[in-house]
Amino acid sequence: MKFGVYIQVPFCQTKCTYCNFHTGVVSQDRYEPYAAAVCSEIGQTAASTAAEIRDVSVDTVYFGGGTPSLLAPVALESILDRLSDNFSFERPKYQKSAQEENAEITLEADPETITRGKAEAWLRAGFNRISLGAQSFSDTELQATGRMHRRADIFAAATVLREVGFRNISLDLIAGLPHQTRESWEESIEQVLRIRPEHLSIYMLEIDEGSRLGKESLAGGKRYSATEIPTDDSMAEFYDSACVRLAAAGHEHYEISNWALAGMRSRHNLKYWQRQPYLGFGAGAHSFDGVKRWSNVHDSAQYVSCIQQGTSPREQIETVTSAQALEEELFLGLRQLEGIDLERIERDYHVNLQTRIAPLAQQGLLELNGKRLRLATDRLTVSNEVFVELLG
Ligand code: SF4
Repeated sequence: MKFGVYIQVPFCQTKCTYCNFHTGVVSQDRYEPYAAAVCSEIGQTAASTAAEIRDVSVDTVYFGGGTPSLLAPVALESILDRLSDNFSFERPKYQKSAQEENAEITLEADPETITRGKAEAWLRAGFNRISLGAQSFSDTELQATGRMHRRADIFAAATVLREVGFRNISLDLIAGLPHQTRESWEESIEQVLRIRPEHLSIYMLEIDEGSRLGKESLAGGKRYSATEIPTDDSMAEFYDSACVRLAAAGHEHYEISNWALAGMRSRHNLKYWQRQPYLGFGAGAHSFDGVKRWSNVHDSAQYVSCIQQGTSPREQIETVTSAQALEEELFLGLRQLEGIDLERIERDYHVNLQTRIAPLAQQGLLELNGKRLRLATDRLTVSNEVFVELLG
């Protein structure tokens, strides 16, 4: 069985105003003990997992955060070493092509953290994919949201990554940042196309209580440029214009928030959308073995302390019921623009979904073509409403 591995590094240099993740700004002295704890957790999990699941091998590894590129390259390499020691996986050799048949190993990196020396060390360690947290090419938007990098840093980082030999770069943008306009958004998309990353993710700004910006906006306040957040209609317009421009430039739209050049889809993220198994290590990391889901404690200090004391950092272990699994098949599967095999799902879950699908198809929100069910491509911006109706 092939597994994905997710490594969570919950540290950042500053807290972005829109961030609703469990990440913290901590002393650098805590990075090394954290990496050591992740290594220990990998060893402990491999020992127990091997007994439960035969033939575990790993074909994708994703270091996310937080800002994993803050950890010293040697610490990142030690985590990959520990994975190699405990699981079977084909670690890319230095300078091999990204397309070759070995594991996809991704590191999320913020532009300002990238130096030539670090990039070379990442490549030597086995990373073959960098996910660059660009977010915007407008310095006004970057500054307003508390990002540390500026437009020039994104170009400098992309140049260094290309020069040292990375052939698989993903880039993130956010639609809906304060001060964003139709012009600044289109300018960001044009700059993405100049860099021509193999992969691109576009996320819509989330306004919720989990971030300082979200809280301020919900309270009607002005801090963090909360009054400069574009309207929902503008955000939908930005997204739609990106769909058109990216398609024209040859970037395939394969998931609601993701585009890729031919053959460069995110193999790791496909595992989530296709309900394949993955193991998560680190504070707050989630795992799924095909039957059970579990997650680790979010607090990084508590996580390290659990590992050091030899107690399990796991909490919230649940067996996925058949009803939950069906919801996941629909919710996750329909995020992919190719849609889902409705016939298989109805057969596997002994359900008939026609009565739920028919009204949504009549409204033009869902399309049923043979046995494939998918979201209507011109209605992706209202996907959440479709999911609510379908799963309700
Ligand atoms: S870099 Fe990412 S994880 Fe860190 S604070 Fe900013 S948005 Fe949150």
